[in-house]
Amino acid sequence: MIELILASGNAHKAEEFAELFDPKLITVKAAPEKIDVVEDGESYFENALLKAKAYYDKFKVPVIADDSGLNVAALPTELGLHSARFGGDGLKDRDRAELLLKKMDGIANREAFFSCVLCVYMNEKEIFYFEGRMNGSIGYSYRGSTGFGYDPVFIPTDKAEEGLTVAELHEWKQKNSHRAVATGFAQKFLGQRN
Ligand code: IMP
Repeated sequence: MIELILASGNAHKAEEFAELFDPKLITVKAAPEKIDVVEDGESYFENALLKAKAYYDKFKVPVIADDSGLNVAALPTELGLHSARFGGDGLKDRDRAELLLKKMDGIANREAFFSCVLCVYMNEKEIFYFEGRMNGSIGYSYRGSTGFGYDPVFIPTDKAEEGLTVAELHEWKQKNSHRAVATGFAQKFLGQRN
């Protein structure tokens, strides 16, 4: 069994990861203490590594870090790595999602995808990355109440016919999100090394 600590001060995130992994193979616990890491990497991979390394250097135990975001074809520089800060500081999730709808007003190309990169930092010599994506498009209205972030304005490709947003697809998201896909890859690979 592999024991990992999560490079994040967010206890809810640790619980989410704990549920995504099979506890017989991989356990994820919150880190003993939050570290402030400057996420100034130029990719999800670099940011995930910055977080994983900072926690590993401090606690000297295997770490899992994640970095994620929403990539919107029509707004290539505004979201992506900067998704959490889109529109500036002080906005709530809902404000950011509604701002995105506003900026997409009149834009025909609504293609978008979520990315999640996991960095598993076992030690200085064994550092592994896993990536998951969820393809879809930006909808035309704010719909649904589950999940977080941009879920209420994102329609996954698999649900395009029904026009449902991820915020209306709680159970589906648990199995098919970018985070679930990346976690699945990590579990398959790390489970085999056990
Ligand atoms: P971080 O990975 O904690 O830096 O967060 C990246 C940002 O991307 C979040 O604040 C959300 O705005 C967005 N994001 C990442 N994953 C999701 C998701 O599953 N649903 C909705 N928004 C997400």
